[in-house]
Amino acid sequence: MRGRVLLAAFLAFIALAPLVLPPFYVTLFNYIGLATLVSLGLVLLTGVAGLVSFGQQAFVGLAAYTTAVLTTQYAASPWITLFAGLAVTAAVALFLGVITLRLSGHYLSLSTIAWGIALYYLFGNLQFLGQYSGIDNVPPVALFGWSLDTGHRSYYLIWCVTLAALIAAQNLLDSRSGRAIRALRFRSVMAESFGVRTASLKVVVFLYAALLAGLSGWLYAHFLRFVSPQAFGVNAGIDYLFMAVVGGASQVWGAVVGASLLTVLKEWLKDILPRLFGQSGSYEIIVFGVLMVLLLHRTRDGLMPALARLVPPPRVPPAVAAAPALARRGLPPAGERLLEVRAAEKHFGGLVAVSGLSFDLRSGEILGLIGPNGAGKSTMFNLITGVLRADAGEIRFGGERLDRLASSEIARRGICRTFQHVNLISSMSVLENVALGAHLRGRQGTVAAMLRLERAEEAQLLAEAARQIERVGLGEQLHQAAGSLPLGRQRVVEIARALAGDPVLLLLDEPAAGLRFAEKQALAGLLRKLRAEGMTILLVEHDMEFVMGLVDRLVVMDFGEKLAEGLPREIQRNPAVLEAYLGGIE
Ligand code: ADP
Ligand code: MG
Repeated sequence: MRGRVLLAAFLAFIALAPLVLPPFYVTLFNYIGLATLVSLGLVLLTGVAGLVSFGQQAFVGLAAYTTAVLTTQYAASPWITLFAGLAVTAAVALFLGVITLRLSGHYLSLSTIAWGIALYYLFGNLQFLGQYSGIDNVPPVALFGWSLDTGHRSYYLIWCVTLAALIAAQNLLDSRSGRAIRALRFRSVMAESFGVRTASLKVVVFLYAALLAGLSGWLYAHFLRFVSPQAFGVNAGIDYLFMAVVGGASQVWGAVVGASLLTVLKEWLKDILPRLFGQSGSYEIIVFGVLMVLLLHRTRDGLMPALARLVPPPRVPPAVAAAPALARRGLPPAGERLLEVRAAEKHFGGLVAVSGLSFDLRSGEILGLIGPNGAGKSTMFNLITGVLRADAGEIRFGGERLDRLASSEIARRGICRTFQHVNLISSMSVLENVALGAHLRGRQGTVAAMLRLERAEEAQLLAEAARQIERVGLGEQLHQAAGSLPLGRQRVVEIARALAGDPVLLLLDEPAAGLRFAEKQALAGLLRKLRAEGMTILLVEHDMEFVMGLVDRLVVMDFGEKLAEGLPREIQRNPAVLEAYLGGIE
């Protein structure tokens, strides 16, 4: 509710500002709007998805130059060159994205600097782009025969586009695709395990950020009516990144905060410093740099979180709407051979983590995989789910080979897992984390999400997530940030997330670790119930009492090899197992 009121106040302010402000400020607001568009792209790309780009100004420039050339030299209408500009931007972004997004960390950032510099010199050297003196006399945009040839007249166009982009981005983050995008930064292995194709999603986010920059470039060219390479140098790219970071890199509205602060600050410094120093020089750049360092030193996450604290969150969190249940997968008949592991092998350098391991899993059973720490149990999970690739051997699921498939493809076949090292997005609510587990049960993409056309499906996904959370006994914690729960409970959230994927085979890696006795009993009860419903479960667990009373069969691992296999009471009496593993407990 509060958010709505603030949004309405902001919209009213934007609508009324040009009626009362002198032209200088209106122009300043125009620059803020243009910068907001670019830094909004960076909020999504860098702040949310974790891909740092110093090169967004190149996309601004591409669209600006495209429209400038086509309108001045070919007399094309700006409305047509809007699409041409965006198409050129998209084509270049797609090309750069596909080749550079595979690079990680610093290499990606370095490559963005490289293409930023390359395009700057390209703009400056090409004859038909007017070289370093640029292109002037770019015509203004006309809207219903009305020429937007002053700052005042451009204002509403710029801000309508900017506000639409802000709202679309907010919608996007609050959706099925948005949850996947939010997982890209630190949790891409987990996201892949729930069917997100992270490589192509990165390209989509990159493309979207580039298109926002392109949109800004088109508006810029027709508002300023002049383009030259200076506006698209590496400095500009760094400024845009600063705006996103200072505003609060992962917050949509942080883009407005950052763009406003930096644009106003620069203007103000340019104005005040010559008076202080009595002469003009580029002092503002130095002072600006120092101020930025100080600011980031004080508020690492940018200004937005501090501002958000001024607005208390609603006391009653929104209820999850009732929605028709999602379609469910059919389960195979009980007793059928579901998973076959044949002589699986995994080496880490000289270390043999899994060595010639073979076992079968029949549908409808709970198989316990036990063994001392470091025996290779989690590695085996990673081989089955495609997080790691087996060096040798075969893994089949329903007869089909899994060991050559990507993680996201394996998830599509109905294999869901939990992670021994909890793999939640701590800042997201329990509900959203679990809804990510149901990713593959929805199909609506980014564009539908931006336009809010996927609300019916979204309600179904959230209702399903809420149902699974209720089922594992965390109904009270639905809206809490996942990271605020005790570690044991976070493990249970992982189980709910895996269940939200409607699995045929459920892989649980030490689910009971950190749980209290009563919680363990409740978990055992839930797993028995799932088995009764026909689910197949592979369970790694340390608590022997928990395992022995629950599983149908056991496979014991030691040093990557199979030490024994059999019914719980056979294993309890197996001398080799007693020596290697259970000795201390007996
Ligand atoms: P468990 O789950 O049975 O405790 P793991 O499968 O986690 O054992 O580990 C088996 C062995 O492989 C351990 O010695 C561990 O240190 C090693 N290991 C696991 N993952 C990696 C990795 N990514 N790189 C190198 N060594 C690893
Ligand atoms: Mg382990």
